[in-house]
Amino acid sequence: MAYRVKGQTGDWELVMGLEIHAQVISDSKLFSGAATGFGAAPNDHVSLVDAAMPGMLPVLNEAVVRQAVRTGLGLNAEINLTSVFERKNYFYPDLPQGYQISQFAHPIVGKGKIKIDLPDGSSKEIGITRLHLEQDAGKSLHDQHPQKTFVDLNRSGVALMEIVSEPDLSAPEEAAAYVKKIRSILRYLGTCDGNMEEGNLRADVNVSVRKPGGPLGTRCEIKNVNSVRFITQAIEYEAARQVEILEGGGVISQETRLYDAAKGETRSLRSKEEAHDYRYFPDPDLLPLTLSHEYVENIRRDLIELPDAKRARYQDVLGLSVYDAGVLTAEKERADYFEAACHDRDPVLTATWVINELLGALNKKGVELDQSPVAPAALGELIDLISDQTISGKIAKDVFAEMLESGKGAKAIVAEKGLQQITDPALIEKIIAEVMAANADKVAEYRSGKDKLFGFFVGQVLKASGGKANPDLVNQILKERLA
Ligand code: ADP
Ligand code: MG
Repeated sequence: MAYRVKGQTGDWELVMGLEIHAQVISDSKLFSGAATGFGAAPNDHVSLVDAAMPGMLPVLNEAVVRQAVRTGLGLNAEINLTSVFERKNYFYPDLPQGYQISQFAHPIVGKGKIKIDLPDGSSKEIGITRLHLEQDAGKSLHDQHPQKTFVDLNRSGVALMEIVSEPDLSAPEEAAAYVKKIRSILRYLGTCDGNMEEGNLRADVNVSVRKPGGPLGTRCEIKNVNSVRFITQAIEYEAARQVEILEGGGVISQETRLYDAAKGETRSLRSKEEAHDYRYFPDPDLLPLTLSHEYVENIRRDLIELPDAKRARYQDVLGLSVYDAGVLTAEKERADYFEAACHDRDPVLTATWVINELLGALNKKGVELDQSPVAPAALGELIDLISDQTISGKIAKDVFAEMLESGKGAKAIVAEKGLQQITDPALIEKIIAEVMAANADKVAEYRSGKDKLFGFFVGQVLKASGGKANPDLVNQILKERLA
């Protein structure tokens, strides 16, 4: 079902393209040796290059180039063997050079495509226009002094990848799914932490509306939206705003807007008329970047399995359901955990335990998977006890609850509490005899044709065994004895 924005004059279509800024994981900055770690004291990570001291020269960081190529390959994109760094000139207090080094006419990565996974289980292909490398700017601090603004240059010169999409997105959920998929791919590759709160993944959302099938409308760009939820909210607000203007006979002026999450609205930051003239030109301090075909192919060969391929393998080879495969591969940590817990155990049983029990319980506790008190090997031990019939699935849930609380191992808990299943037929027969003796009236009813009572007897026997009797054996022996 196509998404539509309701208006007075009928329905409108939504058109969106996203520009994602992703901070590259790398020990040092794009053109200097300064460190990049988050949370350092202001101006601790600033070299003379980052502070733009006269005469300093940029030196390209090869690790960042490698990261950009890996990301390009992960986006199924063309890698351009020649790309050019240019100066993008503008004045800003947190930009000491007076220009940002970026790529403009010749980016390192060209056209690509990714598949996004929508909430209804369908998927859609979204075109990637380009990916280019650029420097991040510093930060102005307005809250340190009543009259003064301070500048922190720790972020100045940190490498960013700007990933631009085609205007292929046509619903708020598609924009959300797109950001999630990009973030997942970057995290799988280890090229960006993808942490929107810390600002190392930021999205600019371009939004326009049009009559279904009509020509593209004028777009507005909503800058630096910093959560998936805000992206959805900002788009819904912006689409309604544009429809109201157009239906009132107005025109949309191309402008940059900000999303105010507290008020739930977007507001104008600057119009296209006031837009910067960046006067791009190739940076004379840097040669064009040329890569060999072999360099790119070596990186391609070492690429790890990405979410779509992993998902297909979980379905086709491991036999997981579409849903389970989707949940487990959406985030790399989950897939890693699942694979470590599964080892050579039953994949379907392991998937059920990871998704329904572990993720459910951690979610309730508000704990992330990497902080799980139950490690993959410990969950594996519990699954072994179910598979070899030492405990029933029901008892296993109690054991698991205790593992989460105490951090103890499954075997230890089972031994300590005597939770082993009763699989000795003689013992089960004894319990059955007791239950039948205590319920002679019901036995008579059952024998005179009230079949439904069978479930009652199963329940009583399991209860009398403290939940430990093997349910298959109970069923089998009860049938014989009640006959
Ligand atoms: P700029 O550099 O001025 O931001 P680009 O051509 O790079 O312009 O486009 C930026 C983004 O805007 C891209 O993601 C693109 O898909 C998107 N876009 C372009 N035209 C439209 C439109 N009419 N409606 C919505 N998004 C659009
Ligand atoms: Mg833009």
